[in-house]
Amino acid sequence: MSLTEINLHQELKKYFGFSQFKGLQEEVIKGVIADKDTFVIMPTGGGKSLCYQLPALIKEGTAIVVSPLIALMKNQVDALRSISSEHGIAHVLNSSLNKTEIKQVKADISNGITKLLYVAPESLTKEENVDFLKNENISFLAIDEAHCISEWGHDFRPEYRNLRKIIQRIGDNIPIVALTATATPKVQEDILKNLGITDAKTFKASFNRPNLYYEIRPKTANVGADIIRFVKQNSGKSGIIYCLSRKKVEELAQTLQVNGIKAVPYHAGLDGKKRAKHQDMFLMEDIDVVVATIAFGMGIDKPDVRFVIHHDIPKSIESYYQETGRAGRDGGEGHCLAYYAYKDIEKLEKFMSGKPVAEQEIGHALLQDVVAFAETSISRRKFILHYFGEDFDNETGDGGDMDDNVRNPKKQNEAQEDVEL
Ligand code: ADP
Ligand code: MG
Repeated sequence: MSLTEINLHQELKKYFGFSQFKGLQEEVIKGVIADKDTFVIMPTGGGKSLCYQLPALIKEGTAIVVSPLIALMKNQVDALRSISSEHGIAHVLNSSLNKTEIKQVKADISNGITKLLYVAPESLTKEENVDFLKNENISFLAIDEAHCISEWGHDFRPEYRNLRKIIQRIGDNIPIVALTATATPKVQEDILKNLGITDAKTFKASFNRPNLYYEIRPKTANVGADIIRFVKQNSGKSGIIYCLSRKKVEELAQTLQVNGIKAVPYHAGLDGKKRAKHQDMFLMEDIDVVVATIAFGMGIDKPDVRFVIHHDIPKSIESYYQETGRAGRDGGEGHCLAYYAYKDIEKLEKFMSGKPVAEQEIGHALLQDVVAFAETSISRRKFILHYFGEDFDNETGDGGDMDDNVRNPKKQNEAQEDVEL
């Protein structure tokens, strides 16, 4: 089918039930259908999956989708199966399958039934899988969460570095679609360079979240009381409070409970059942506040989170953006409050001291940007967007007055006094 013969809106409606494309989706999809190497940079929730799912459903052959998380793959495969009478329309290929299941997956691919094959990078590098796939009709290869390629990203996965070689073995001319929510120019360069797709068509959506209010407060000994006051002022609203350590999570959750706030802890030290329970309580609004380590949030889609508090400053602007980004998904109010003390930066530096030198250097550079962000007296939004390679004028831009620095400009020396606390 040629591009001109396809009515994309009709296909969108048919498969997904949506009547409009979101943001840049339509442009991206046209490029992918036309076999262009494509680079998609969109914030979380921007609708990246559809950018490869719809072309995969339309094109002949099987699209390979590389994704780092089994849970994410499973969700997508289940969702795709629900839109088709053909169970084999989407498959996951991984080590949990038995021999019979693997045979079925391979048969579905060879018979042209499977439009999307999800694989973890580890599975893709397996010799027997490469040998099988190189004889199949592969429409294109999508690399989701492509920032995993870069050491400058927040989620570096060494296996992602081998993808280029593997792709070449599967087929020389397979178009590549890389997708990420990481907007820093450094990570983008890394991705393109590593995949060898320097002439990719790049689509970058804006990372501005105009409904989020950014605020940094100096962290003093009273931080606990300050947080309680804030939460009480926002009673009945849903919020997430991030802490660096599990111990702090437990402590603060307890302090909040003692003060009559419906809060639960969440961290990787709790057993799976308890984590699932606490997450559900949050989603069902049996509780208002989750006090959590960064283990909480990935894939949690609660649209009306009204505040995100950082008890401890995150280790990069990227993490800060991702974590605060969980507020106000529905476009409503989203207050992002972070507490900052330079000694927390020193603490984070110390955590890295056991790591390889190269990693430490990267970690240090990322932290320097966090310091600059916390201590800046310019528009926080302007700072974040500039960090992501985006121009922003807070006099005219959307959400330009939605941060502490713009609302209450500090004098330079006053700003400096604050950070000494
Ligand atoms: P990302 O991977 O960029 O974080 P997803 O692909 O998970 O985003 O999509 C986020 C949400 O947006 C999903 O719930 C998805 O169903 C929805 N979505 C995607 N495209 C559209 C569209 N064209 N119209 C309405 N909703 C959409
Ligand atoms: Mg995604």
